[in-house]
Amino acid sequence: MRPLRLVWIYPDLLSTYGDRGNLLVLERRARLRGLQAEVTEVNSDQPVPPDGHIYLMGGGEDLPQTLATRRLQADGGLHEAVRRGAVMFAVCAGYQMLGVEFGGAEDQPVAGLGLLDIRSGRGECRAVGEIVAEVDPELTVPLLTGFENHQGVTSIGPGARPLARTTLGTGNGDGTEGAYAGHVLGTYLHGPALVRNPGLADLLLSWAAGPLPPLPPQADELARRLREERLRAVGAGQ
Ligand code: GLN
Repeated sequence: MRPLRLVWIYPDLLSTYGDRGNLLVLERRARLRGLQAEVTEVNSDQPVPPDGHIYLMGGGEDLPQTLATRRLQADGGLHEAVRRGAVMFAVCAGYQMLGVEFGGAEDQPVAGLGLLDIRSGRGECRAVGEIVAEVDPELTVPLLTGFENHQGVTSIGPGARPLARTTLGTGNGDGTEGAYAGHVLGTYLHGPALVRNPGLADLLLSWAAGPLPPLPPQADELARRLREERLRAVGAGQ
C-alpha cells in the first residue's frame, strides 16, 4: 500500500485544546503497525488535496469556524475526498461544520458543509467538563472519555447515527454524543479524543487501511494509564 496520507485541515483556524494530538496518535499507531504515514497540514489559504486517506479537523472559536466552512465549501477538495470514500474525523467546531447548518457567533444559522446529516444550534448554557459515553456497539470501541467545551447542541437526522450515548456530560445535548455515517465521524470530545481513546483511533485507521493487528500491551501502557486515571476521576473506572 502507498503511504497512508493524513491531512490536517486548517491548523491556523481549527486547533483548540491540543486537537493536533489526534494527528500524532494516528501517525504513531499507523507506524507501529508498519504502515508508512505521511502528514500534510493544509492552512486556510491552501487547497485541500483530494487524495488523502484520513482528514482531520479540530475545534475552533465561532468566527474561525464560519470562515473555515466558507473556505472549505469554496475549495471543494474535502467534498471530493469524502465522495471518494476518504475517512473524515472532526472535533467540536469541526464536527458542527460537517453538518447541514450550525449556529454562528450571533446564533444566526450558518450553512455547513453538508457531509453529515446533523444540525447544530446554540444551547442555553455552555457545556464544559469531562464527558463519558458508551459507543454504538456496531463499532466495537470501548467507553469514550474526553473533555468538552462548547455552546452548540446537535440533532442527528435520519442519514447519520449517534456515535455514542453519554453517561456523563452533555455531548449533542439529547443523551447522545457525536455522529457518524459511512466513514465520516464527528465528536464533541477533546482530550485529545484519540489520545484518550486509542480504540477510536484504530477504528479510523482500519476504515482507511483494513484490519489492523493488535499492538503489544506496552505500546498502549501510557494510554491505558491515562484512560484509567481520567475515568476514575469521574467515578467511571473500568
Ligand atoms: N464554537 C462552537 C461551540 O461553542 C465550537 C467550540 C469548540 O470547538 N470548542 O459550540
